[in-house]
Amino acid sequence: MGKKYVIIGGVAGGATAAAKIRREDEKAEIVVFERGPYVSFANCGLPYYIGGDIKNRDDLLLMTPDSFWEKYRIQVHTQHEVLTIAPEKNKIKIKDPQGKEFAESYDTLILSQGAQPFLPPLPGIEMNHVMSLRNVPDMDRITQFISTKKPKTAVVVGGGFIGLEMAEAFHHCDIDVTVVELMPHVLPPLDQDMALLFTETILRNRFNIITNTAVAEIKNNSVILKDGTEIAADIVLVSAGVKPEIEMAKAAGITLGESGGIKVNGQMQTNYPNVYAVGDAVEIKNRITNQLTRIPLAGPANRQGRIAAINATGGNATYKGSIGTAIVKVFEQNAGMTGLSEKAATKAGLDAITSMTSGPNHAGYYPGAKTVITKLVYENKSGQLLGAQVIGGSGVDKRLDVLATAIHAKMTVHDLEEIDLAYAPPFGSANDPVNIAGFVATHIVKGEVKDVQKQEDMPKEAQLIDVRNASEIETTGILKGAIHIPLPQLRENISSISPDKPVVFYCAKGLRGYLALRILKGNGFEDVTNISGGFTRAIANGWELE
Ligand code: FAD
Repeated sequence: MGKKYVIIGGVAGGATAAAKIRREDEKAEIVVFERGPYVSFANCGLPYYIGGDIKNRDDLLLMTPDSFWEKYRIQVHTQHEVLTIAPEKNKIKIKDPQGKEFAESYDTLILSQGAQPFLPPLPGIEMNHVMSLRNVPDMDRITQFISTKKPKTAVVVGGGFIGLEMAEAFHHCDIDVTVVELMPHVLPPLDQDMALLFTETILRNRFNIITNTAVAEIKNNSVILKDGTEIAADIVLVSAGVKPEIEMAKAAGITLGESGGIKVNGQMQTNYPNVYAVGDAVEIKNRITNQLTRIPLAGPANRQGRIAAINATGGNATYKGSIGTAIVKVFEQNAGMTGLSEKAATKAGLDAITSMTSGPNHAGYYPGAKTVITKLVYENKSGQLLGAQVIGGSGVDKRLDVLATAIHAKMTVHDLEEIDLAYAPPFGSANDPVNIAGFVATHIVKGEVKDVQKQEDMPKEAQLIDVRNASEIETTGILKGAIHIPLPQLRENISSISPDKPVVFYCAKGLRGYLALRILKGNGFEDVTNISGGFTRAIANGWELE
């Protein structure tokens, strides 16, 4: 027998590490202890089974202890909970399914214990109809409850990525859903303007969303909010964030970081060189700000597991951090982000500016085109990309991944202007939404175009001009203080605009406002601004209506 590797936790990070160790070291003895009844299951797929998109429960069980043994000669012990670690003795204590405790030694230990759903200490949280979702038994409990109790109403506590996936799943089960979110908008990692565009224009009428409100109490068939409102809830799903499983590591003297995760170096080693830690339980570097943080996502967990395995088997690999690329599908719409949001960039003290653009995901004349809205966050002057958010129908994932790659490669908005992307009418446009985002951002960085997004940032004495058609204004209303000059009539009406005062244009999404800006600039006006993202973004940023 070769070296003995013991892994605690057999799902994303742990299962990846185990398989990679085998590929690197054919002689190794590899043992995985997993507390739950399943190993290597698809936690990200659980909401889709509840909602009925995934029909076959077994499809979620990617590997079994038998298949691990057959394929990799890895011993997997499910329903074995590791109770303590003694790093000085290279030993752990385990409890088997019968409750018997025994010790196991290791040469190298890898911790991949993940994170638990955070359950706020609310009155009623312990009741049977209150659920959380982390693993297959949680999923079975929810599906069993739905099939036997036939709930008609649900409250999802927390409007993050999993909360919204579960709201959709409940909707598919013919349950009336209300999502209650403490923050001012759902999908808190996104900026408010993008999150509101996503919720207002996309989720309207599918389920109820209440923001800026905390749940105060859970009752038998309802939830009481802090403001006293009572919302019917035959089932409650709590999805209010996760907390890393670190207690055992802490008790063993393994150092924790300030963010509350296990402290690791670039090789994923803890303060004990033969003890590695990966996944949701560790503290990692935000690749853009270099700040230490926790990013509980499957991609980083898998890559960390791989890197820990390479280093543990004598190789040399470094984990350089994450930019937190994440995406969610809600009904037929998608929202994703990568890198820093505007608020995160500002909080990090960066001199960040933003722009918003929108356009069809593929040629508008090819059937089925859907709007993609892209927000870029970039450094003032240099145009260095810091983050991006994309929402819309199909094609969101493609743009998000291009932008994630661009951020990883430290590209600027100028690079986005030039980047060659695949085009044929069913797939994109000759100028892809990513190119267009680059054009607009470059104009702003070069100072050729001024952008304003919030009412309070309006230049003093500015003339605000809405260049949309009359029919659009009839439908939506007009921004406070704006006058209406439709774009096709602008040239004839230039004399009604004072060249001595700043001019701010807006249209629905930004393009016509930009064309109007060009017309005025071409006629000698100097101080002209366009609201990138147009009326939709202004409203999402709280701009008042006339
Ligand atoms: P996990 O995969 O959670 O594995 C940890 C395992 O360790 C658990 O099975 C646990 O039982 C076991 N364990 C803990 N303590 C012990 C102990 N003392 N002894 C033995 N075993 C122990 N991420 C995305 O990027 N995209 C998504 O779409 C996405 N969707 C998700 C949907 C849901 C419903 C959930 C719950 C998560 C989702 N995630 C998603 C997050 C992603 O699943 C996690 O980031 C990832 O699984 C973390 O991997 P990990 O190995 O750290 O922890």
